[in-house]
Amino acid sequence: MELDNLGDWRKTHFTKDVTKELVNKEVILGGWIRNYRDLGGLKFISLQDKYGERQITLKKGVVTDDLFDKVKLGYQYCIMVKGIVKAFNEAPGGIEIIPSEIKILNVTPEKLPIDMTGETVSELDLRLNNRALDLRSLKNQAVFIIRGEMLRTIRKFLFAKNFTEMTTPKIIGSATEGGTELFPIIYFEREAFLTQSAQLYKEQLSGVYERVFEISDCFRAEKHRTKRHLCEIFTLDVEIAFSTMEDVLKLLEEIVYNVLKEIRENQMKALEYLGMEKISVTPEIPFPRYKYEEIIDLINTKFGFNIEFGEDISTEAYRKLGTELSSYYYITHWPMSIKPFYIMPSKDPKYSESFDLQKGMLELTSGGTRVHNKEQLINAIENQGLNSTSFKSHLKAFDFGMPPHAGFGLGIDRWLTMICGLEDIREAVMYPRTADRLTP
Ligand code: ATP
Ligand code: MN
Repeated sequence: MELDNLGDWRKTHFTKDVTKELVNKEVILGGWIRNYRDLGGLKFISLQDKYGERQITLKKGVVTDDLFDKVKLGYQYCIMVKGIVKAFNEAPGGIEIIPSEIKILNVTPEKLPIDMTGETVSELDLRLNNRALDLRSLKNQAVFIIRGEMLRTIRKFLFAKNFTEMTTPKIIGSATEGGTELFPIIYFEREAFLTQSAQLYKEQLSGVYERVFEISDCFRAEKHRTKRHLCEIFTLDVEIAFSTMEDVLKLLEEIVYNVLKEIRENQMKALEYLGMEKISVTPEIPFPRYKYEEIIDLINTKFGFNIEFGEDISTEAYRKLGTELSSYYYITHWPMSIKPFYIMPSKDPKYSESFDLQKGMLELTSGGTRVHNKEQLINAIENQGLNSTSFKSHLKAFDFGMPPHAGFGLGIDRWLTMICGLEDIREAVMYPRTADRLTP
């Protein structure tokens, strides 16, 4: 088939902007064919762009014969349409376009690897193998519209509270929080690593810009094969100087509240498309707070587990806990023995000034008050069996008047998975990285 050139055609509108106010006006739309039906004397095109779809109607005798005969289309062909907007109640959105010209800009194979009509759901791995196509699906559009709203809201909220957006290095010379779980890379003649979190840099920068945040990726070389773990994750990192865990708990619940509120206000259609409008509701704040000890007591007595103080909470135990506590809640004061060196011990050093934010069974965030005294930090590093000399350059920041500070890291992908009601975290990332997946 001979393809048309773009030439001087430019889109005048996105599908979402073609409203009844434009009836009898000429528009140029562009996008992909989500559905195409040829009923003999009548042809329907459902043209989709990044925001939705519009119906293009070709009726023999109404459009030119040349155009009518030219239109032999396949799923996901890339086309542009010039035509007049008409009101038509039976069409989706009450609008159809009567075309005067159609440009076919690119074609597809007769059989697409995955279903793009929305009638059946292809298997996730197959979808991910063909991700550039799969991402065009209406479901994915909804997911990533919500993600956009989430990130926009977080930034707006934090800027309004005098935060500075930082960008910390993703290539690091030594382990951030202990040697495991890092991807080694070759950095010229040396070994380096991909960062596992912005932790140390955000702490340093809290001693400069006082209130800092970053939304970016970090890397976990974990061979987990679960529906909530990835090897490249996107996190919101926040650090606040002159503060403690208490301040962070308040800020974080406000962020969660605002993100859900704004998604509901601005992207309800996407939420409805995913069937989550009754589930992803704006939560009540403040969130309930439970101490780690209360939580293991609850799990042990209610569900017959035998978790002892100082043990992590297993996935199975969390699963049960999620049936009891299904909304957002905090688990605070974890045993110091299972927390990283930079976490501040409580007055009773058996406990720590640390917390997780949970939604049901899922951990969304970890955070806490940090150690800001250099001697104390060196001791904590050594006590965990790490070598403080490998933290030399980080520790230098603590020579220059490091303020008391606290912060958290929130897993954006995990939260999005939850808000959108997705089965698997890989669906919440455009190009997920897992132990078995490095392409596309
Ligand atoms: P988990 O115990 O669930 O593996 P973690 O405690 O190791 O998580 P943190 O280091 O506390 O994770 O990271 C902060 C947040 O980043 C987590 O609360 C979670 O939301 C997210 N996160 C951490 N690891 C992963 C991962 N491998 N894949 C997706 N999200 C993750
Ligand atoms: Mn954690």
